[in-house]
Amino acid sequence: MTQQRTVAVLGATGTVGQRFISLLADHPWFKLTALTTSERTAGKRYADAVHWHLPEPMPESVANMKLEPTRPDLGADLCFSALPTNAAEEHEAALAKAGHHVFSNASTHRMDADVPNLLAEVNFEHVKVLVRQRESRGWTGSIVTNGNCTAIHLTLAIAPLHRDFGIEQLLVSTMQSISGAGYPGVPSLDVLDNVVPYIGGEEEKVVEETQKFLGAWSHATGFEPARFPMSVHCNRVLVRDGHTETVSVRLKGSPGVRVVTESLRTFTGRPQELGLPSAPTHPIVVREELDRPQPLLDRNTERGMASTVGRIRDDPVLGLKFVVVGHNTIRGAAGASVLNAELLVAERCV
Ligand code: NAP
Repeated sequence: MTQQRTVAVLGATGTVGQRFISLLADHPWFKLTALTTSERTAGKRYADAVHWHLPEPMPESVANMKLEPTRPDLGADLCFSALPTNAAEEHEAALAKAGHHVFSNASTHRMDADVPNLLAEVNFEHVKVLVRQRESRGWTGSIVTNGNCTAIHLTLAIAPLHRDFGIEQLLVSTMQSISGAGYPGVPSLDVLDNVVPYIGGEEEKVVEETQKFLGAWSHATGFEPARFPMSVHCNRVLVRDGHTETVSVRLKGSPGVRVVTESLRTFTGRPQELGLPSAPTHPIVVREELDRPQPLLDRNTERGMASTVGRIRDDPVLGLKFVVVGHNTIRGAAGASVLNAELLVAERCV
């Protein structure tokens, strides 16, 4: 990559915004030139406005940057959006119309018929829809979304199984970390000493986004989602970072544990072929220990960019079951967006 691209982080003070800043501070291809917040915070120095809560120090190069309001004439080519849904509704299309390439974490445009919900190893062919997006909306820029953090780790873990065998039925129960709700997030009196068995809209998102990720796109028919039935339970638990998902699945031909393990272990995609800067060497890491994966021990595997799978075993009801752990704000959000942007830059799609 010869030429650096200028990038902005939208919603830079939030949980996902901080992750973006940490991942972009020394990025070899992307130069951070703009940070945005809401009107109420704009004008302040980043270090004065943010409640920094990552363990690594705030990058010095960012501390003195001035926060700008989110507007279409931002001085950056690519925009990494960590905006809340309503702000994404207001700003992302306007930015794309003004020529920016927006990589969004908000749910606002994920299910649009002309927006690729991109998971870099899984559905790169969906970016073909960008030609239609630009033509029909009259944009010179674009919007590419990330999936929901739970859908991303679920999809990474089941994509090779759907490709190699075919999924017939899927049952998932999640234990989702509190950082998944942003900052300040879930009130401590609701979550301490507790499990909250409801996350508004989450179960529906996991179903529709997983099926979109694993579906097809063609010029003739548009997006055709994968059609296997899914049953999803989403729960909030008192873990700081990292979602855990227990998965039971019926696969065509009932392949055994050994074959399934091999399919997961050897899975790679376009980011690995291209050697992209943020690509994990192994997007799925399989652990053999009886008590792994665990969020505390496994969420940072491959710099937080992999899904860790373990406890792969026979299931008397659906045939096979296993556990998945993944970092929700890295591969589940900011890291996935940065990888999507690297892929589209490398493939000259943006
Ligand atoms: P958050 O911690 O609540 O942060 C949201 C940030 O957006 C706030 O810091 C706020 O900044 C800023 N903001 C509000 N209105 C704005 C505007 N008009 N322009 C620019 N900035 C504005 O939320 P989050 O967890 O980072 O989530 C951000 C987005 O990512 C959401 O759409 C969420 O659904 C999605 N997401 C989150 C996760 C996760 O694990 N947390 C995972 C996947 C996707 P000020 O108050 O300082 O202005």
